[in-house]
Amino acid sequence: MTRIFETDLRDGPSTRAIHAGQRPDAVSGAIMTPLYLTSTYVHEEFGVHRGYEYARGKNPTREALERNVAALEGATHGFAFGSGMGCLTSLMMLFRSGDHVIVGENVYGGTYRLFDKLLRQFGLTFTYVDTRDPQRIADAVTAQTRAVMLETPTNPLMRLTDLAAAADIARRAGALTIVDNTFATPIFQRPLELGADIVWHSTTKYINGHSDMIGGLAVVLEDELADRLQFILNAAGAVPGPFDAWLALRGTKTLPLRMKQHDLNGRAVGAWLLERLGEDRVIYPGLAHHPHHELAKKQMSGFGGMMTLDLKTIDNARKFLERVRVFSLAESLGGVESLTNHPFSMTHGSVPADIKIAMGLNDGMVRLSCGIEDAEDLIADLDGALEGI
Ligand code: PLP
Repeated sequence: MTRIFETDLRDGPSTRAIHAGQRPDAVSGAIMTPLYLTSTYVHEEFGVHRGYEYARGKNPTREALERNVAALEGATHGFAFGSGMGCLTSLMMLFRSGDHVIVGENVYGGTYRLFDKLLRQFGLTFTYVDTRDPQRIADAVTAQTRAVMLETPTNPLMRLTDLAAAADIARRAGALTIVDNTFATPIFQRPLELGADIVWHSTTKYINGHSDMIGGLAVVLEDELADRLQFILNAAGAVPGPFDAWLALRGTKTLPLRMKQHDLNGRAVGAWLLERLGEDRVIYPGLAHHPHHELAKKQMSGFGGMMTLDLKTIDNARKFLERVRVFSLAESLGGVESLTNHPFSMTHGSVPADIKIAMGLNDGMVRLSCGIEDAEDLIADLDGALEGI
């Protein structure tokens, strides 16, 4: 099990990002964590090994990443997986047939697809609720409820959930609070400090930050939960290769710096779009008119670079997506480069249209992931793409 080094929790977030979980290589003193390309480890003698038996269970490169992200989240244990979805699938193996999970209605489309199309077949039941009002979580609790799975801000409607209130309701119901912290990252939001039990990421996004790998990672505080997750990780085996872990680890070194710039660009682009399009078309928690702006200020230390524009019609959305030049039309988010997409048909394509419409997601919406380019170039790009809209 990957327990973090105690010393890593003494440092601030930027120092943690660069150093936590990493020690100079024991053989050479190499300052960068070596890439341990190995499937197995030689035993010193029969019945004696150095804590490493087979690389599905443990790999030193992977452990460095696990410790690093755990330290950033203020956790004590980390578990890396081959994708965000692989991570969530493994987390759901904590539960058994008949268990009930309350899910934020506006989670990533792939999360909905995993729950609705696959895990339901194994007897897990899911209730989707609008968690903007935590009381709705309390109302959905049943005797079988074992977990509350939240994303905040949500994807792509940028709605917030009061994590402390939600975790309190879950705890009283005897359920685990699981938070997908992919959008906010530990730099802007640390759900464990607000009462969550498990925090997970698609490390594909901001954690890596360079759009060159796919990965997932979960962190926890409790030893007993960590033991169960280590068992699942090894038994189910959805682990990442060491090179992907290494790339993610390289990414975290600049995470605080990148998030600062994503946030500055998000604020600049958001303010400009507000002037250009008006309040009802720009959904960004950093803007004062956002219904959860005050909660965002309380629960997060930055607003980041994610926002959604409601251009009202699919024709407007198409025009916009075809005209952007600095923003690229692509799935995903959180890289240094700016991306845009059409959530209705892309990231949330697997959610039935009536459900999307009921929650307020329409086909005139486009999502922006503001990268770390020059804000003026992003704004000029948007200005051109919005001509006549
Ligand atoms: N969570 C969020 C918020 C996401 O946006 C995504 C992917 O887009 C995922 C989870 C899934 O992660 P992955 O693509 O690494 O499997």
